[in-house]
Amino acid sequence: MGYVIDPPAIATLGVAGSEDRFPVGRIFCVGRNYAAHAREMGGDERDPPFYFMKPAAAVVDAAHAVAIGYPPMTNNLHHEIELVVALGGGGSNLTEAQALQAVFGYAVGLDMTRRDLQFAARDKGRPWEFGKAFAASAPIGMLQPASRIGHPVGGMIMLEVNGQVRQTSDLSLMIWSVAESLSFLSRYEALRPGDVIMNGTPEGVGAVVPGDVMRGRIDGVGGIEVRVE
Ligand code: MN
Repeated sequence: MGYVIDPPAIATLGVAGSEDRFPVGRIFCVGRNYAAHAREMGGDERDPPFYFMKPAAAVVDAAHAVAIGYPPMTNNLHHEIELVVALGGGGSNLTEAQALQAVFGYAVGLDMTRRDLQFAARDKGRPWEFGKAFAASAPIGMLQPASRIGHPVGGMIMLEVNGQVRQTSDLSLMIWSVAESLSFLSRYEALRPGDVIMNGTPEGVGAVVPGDVMRGRIDGVGGIEVRVE
């Protein structure tokens, strides 16, 4: 038995210290996980976490410097620098300790956002997909296995555009830690190996235009470099 069309390619990420690659299943994204960013979006930092998703095909392997095209139907493409978690295990109703056991590794990622389309959808109570889940909306850098770097709970997270710092914060300022967020999410959905979670962005989000170069890094995790074409 074959397929009636060629099967879609599996999105994969590079892994530090390995020739093998991490296959991406689902991408969950945490909304508003830094208080100062929640405020700049007009929200209340005490709200419980909420999630949206991107398709695995939105991943751009940014283990090395890469370029992405400026997407259609927007005039306000925003950068959101985020800590990315990749799961090697899973399960339902995970304790925080079990959630960390399920983590394969960490990376630096960008939750690229068509902010104009996101806000238009939000204001009408419509889904966020056009604003968040478009092609190449999830560039993710080299995965660092937790067996090598542990589980980062603090450290600078920053993004500069054309050498100018736009976003800077510290992982310790996340409202919901990785362990708390995974535990919470696992009550709603059984987590699986291959799941990727983007853990929210700090304040300072803003627009990029063709020709801009975004360079981000998280202390103890690594970096990412993405040019917009
Ligand atoms: Mn985000």
